[in-house]
Amino acid sequence: MSSSKGLPHKVVLIDYDEKLFSPMGFEAEVLTQAGASWETYQLRSPEAVLDVARDAGVVVVQTVRVLLTREIIAQLPRCRCMIRAGAGYDSIDYKAATEHGIMVCNTPTYCTDDVADHAMALLLSSLRHVARLDAAMRKGHFARELAVPTRRLKGSTLGIIGLGRIGGTLARRVRGWEVTVLAYDPYVTQERGDEVGARLVGLNELLERSEFISVHCPLTEETYHMLSWEQFAHVKPGLVLVNTARGPIVHEEALVKALQEGRVWAAGLDVTEREPLAPDSPLLRMDNVTLTPHISANSPEARHDLYRLICEISGDVVQGRIPRFVVNPEVLDHLRKAE
Ligand code: NAD
Repeated sequence: MSSSKGLPHKVVLIDYDEKLFSPMGFEAEVLTQAGASWETYQLRSPEAVLDVARDAGVVVVQTVRVLLTREIIAQLPRCRCMIRAGAGYDSIDYKAATEHGIMVCNTPTYCTDDVADHAMALLLSSLRHVARLDAAMRKGHFARELAVPTRRLKGSTLGIIGLGRIGGTLARRVRGWEVTVLAYDPYVTQERGDEVGARLVGLNELLERSEFISVHCPLTEETYHMLSWEQFAHVKPGLVLVNTARGPIVHEEALVKALQEGRVWAAGLDVTEREPLAPDSPLLRMDNVTLTPHISANSPEARHDLYRLICEISGDVVQGRIPRFVVNPEVLDHLRKAE
């Protein structure tokens, strides 16, 4: 725990994970200038949260170990904003927060570059067999035959599902590889495509024409199992699939079958339907699958940007400004009426 007490406002981070992202050390100083103290904890129970957050104006939740439920929210009378240190905010009862006039913010930009890099790393590792060759060498095999065939990125067609921050960054980056980029995103227009160098197409066309597909849409009711039996039946044979978004967007059983049948040539997955993966998952036995443990967001720069953003949002809230990234804008009307 760290603190800078005696200030009119309190910002409390309830549950950082020191193995992944822990505070940088500049937060207390930055927030003191905004008139707020900064306290950090690694709590695991709702009772403990109430002990430290009851008098806080801003509550920051980082892991999904502690949920900010309706019951907890009702007992935080001074809270004006809850920040999810990350993109998803399902650990906060959004509806209850809105009803209590509490803004909910996320910090979606801190790791955009890192996730785009990681998608590229998984794609290149799959095309050049980096992970399987490395594993063989460590077992004493100079197994050059494992690398046959490799695949060339230049001149290929990459399909991006979800042309938002990360998908758009990836599209821009692959220009240097002279790749044709197709994108499926029903919520953006070709103007966005032109901005990042992608041609918007329907999902079926993307499946049929792409040699490589990278998934960058959010997990929603609409995208749950968006890539399943029917879609794998339509993909271009030899597809390489990369998923750094959310596991359940891809129906894993269907993917395993498509990999076994050779319809999907390789996959690079940072996210899976169940995390951690079950020890008996067939994916663990497939050497054309490159797996990483939901780590795309991680880098020292991302850690820095995450805590900067938390300070910026908290500072705005305690000084009465509307911060960036309010995900429940309907609360703002409620707050204006209460003024
Ligand atoms: P974003 O909101 O900027 O972009 C998401 C895009 O997906 C938007 O353009 C949206 O229109 C599009 N979309 C929504 N529904 C769609 C649908 N049905 N079909 C196709 N496209 C659809 O988000 P972002 O910052 O680019 O992040 C994308 C996702 O990456 C996040 O939702 C998150 O799940 C995931 N993510 C993963 C990690 C990690 O550690 N692996 C880290 C950060 C984000």
